[in-house]
Amino acid sequence: MSSITIPPSLETAHPTEVVQWAAEQFGADQLVVTASFEDAVLVHVAATAVPGIEITLLDTQYLFAETRWLVDELTTKLDLNLRVMHPEPHIRPDNLWQTDVEACCHVRKVEPLNRALAGKQAWVTGVRRADGPTRANAPVAAYDLVRGLVKLNPLAAFSDDDMALYLQLHELPAHPLADKGYASIGCWPCTRPVAPGDDKRAGRWSGNAKTECGLHV
Ligand code: SF4
Repeated sequence: MSSITIPPSLETAHPTEVVQWAAEQFGADQLVVTASFEDAVLVHVAATAVPGIEITLLDTQYLFAETRWLVDELTTKLDLNLRVMHPEPHIRPDNLWQTDVEACCHVRKVEPLNRALAGKQAWVTGVRRADGPTRANAPVAAYDLVRGLVKLNPLAAFSDDDMALYLQLHELPAHPLADKGYASIGCWPCTRPVAPGDDKRAGRWSGNAKTECGLHV
């Protein structure tokens, strides 16, 4: 892994070129593309760059019905090769999110992600700098020293306007909650709409100091 050189040109490359570079570098079967399905952009970029590439969804057991609708819609429209990662079989819907969000995110997001990434060489995410202050310096590509792989954020430089334009240009459906004030969409117990101009992730774990689910450490 240490012999991989990340070309500086990736920083300004089109998102599709970033995914293509990763597929050529590591092999498509060595990439894990995780999509939250809060929008259609990342999955369209990945499926266009490498047709048939596996798209991984972390099913926390608490996805909005509207998110499940978008998953089905895009899977059909784009003929996605979808892999759904579930929590361990003994994890059932419970009230953990009311008392310990860190533990809840760990068993429903972090542990399934770690399983999905095990043995792989690169991870492609939908992280954008415009998501909020905790992501403001996200690079397009960098070594993830914690996980021992290359992490790619092809949409890092995409603004909200870029996202909207991409959806329009490619005639992709929007998430049904996007025009209802949900600027960032995760699990239903931990997501609320935000006021115009608020930090996009202010509606995640509202009232709690938590700002990230533990995936993007
Ligand atoms: S976002 Fe909330 S419901 Fe979803 S896994 Fe984390 S704590 Fe649990």
